[in-house]
Amino acid sequence: MVTNYNIRDIIASSTHSVSFEVFPPKRDTPMEPVMAAVEELSKIKPSFMSVTYGAGGGANTNTIHLAEHVQKQCGVPVLAHLTCLTSNREKINDEISSLKKAGIENVLCLRGDAPSDISQTRDFKYASDLVRIMKPLGFCLGGACYPECHPECDHLEKDIEHLKQKVDAGLDFLTTQMFFDNNVYFRYLAHLRNAGITIPVIAGIMPVTNGKQIARICKISGTLLPPRFRAIVDRFGDDPASMLSAGVAYATEQIVDLFADGVKAVHLYTMNKPEVAKRIMDNLKGIVK
Ligand code: FAD
Repeated sequence: MVTNYNIRDIIASSTHSVSFEVFPPKRDTPMEPVMAAVEELSKIKPSFMSVTYGAGGGANTNTIHLAEHVQKQCGVPVLAHLTCLTSNREKINDEISSLKKAGIENVLCLRGDAPSDISQTRDFKYASDLVRIMKPLGFCLGGACYPECHPECDHLEKDIEHLKQKVDAGLDFLTTQMFFDNNVYFRYLAHLRNAGITIPVIAGIMPVTNGKQIARICKISGTLLPPRFRAIVDRFGDDPASMLSAGVAYATEQIVDLFADGVKAVHLYTMNKPEVAKRIMDNLKGIVK
């Protein structure tokens, strides 16, 4: 029985933590298959699960509902994502009331991406605006960060200056965008520590099991594929069974290397696939207790 749902405390008290990201169903799509995937994922006993907000076409309205299910029915601590750019103060206040009512303590404060028709008058410009509002309300707060620079920022140094403002507004931890070269993470972590950012930086790992999907994701996020990984995708990308095995092996190796080099917390972008998360966690038996 979990008694402490606070992610800051969970990371501090574990030697190696592995958490999972899930996304709610798209609008007008049934909730049951996602609920079933989430229940399977919860049986693998992640340190916590995060539920995205509107990302990849997932409906915002389902985020809190699914997050509440994760915590109350599956007994797994939850992190609810919340974006602010396309929202306003009134809607965010409503979301905060719903989060409180659902007993959710942890929120990943995000700006979100701008649709092309966004109006000029906005209550929130950056994720840090949301952090400032949420902080006095007693939530444990996370934020996103980008080891290969956020695609809209022209220089990593500038992006880290902005990140420092977001952290100083009241973040308890950060989660990185996916990366496929651990050296990118370690270099970035050194930059963050030099900039005075000392909170935990959870390493975001995407197990790639579909060659076509990864080309699209990397294009949107600006994530680079190292040659070794590109060779795997080129060789096995069109064969689902081979790509699954190769993707699981690559992600496992990345995680083992991160833990061996002192990283305490890893977040798996599960894409709602329990079978992938299970194979990785089986590989980590003995390391993650
Ligand atoms: P911010 O921290 O606000 O940064 C956005 C840009 O603004 C950056 O280029 C930054 O350098 C710049 N900036 C920040 N502050 C300033 C300032 N004071 N002055 C000038 N420039 C500034 N999207 C979803 O829609 N739903 C999700 O659930 C979701 N989950 C995510 C989870 C993770 C772990 C990650 C890494 C991303 C996620 N995203 C999600 C994507 C995210 O919303 C986008 O990447 C978005 O473009 C940026 O959001 P942010 O919170 O990082 O923005």
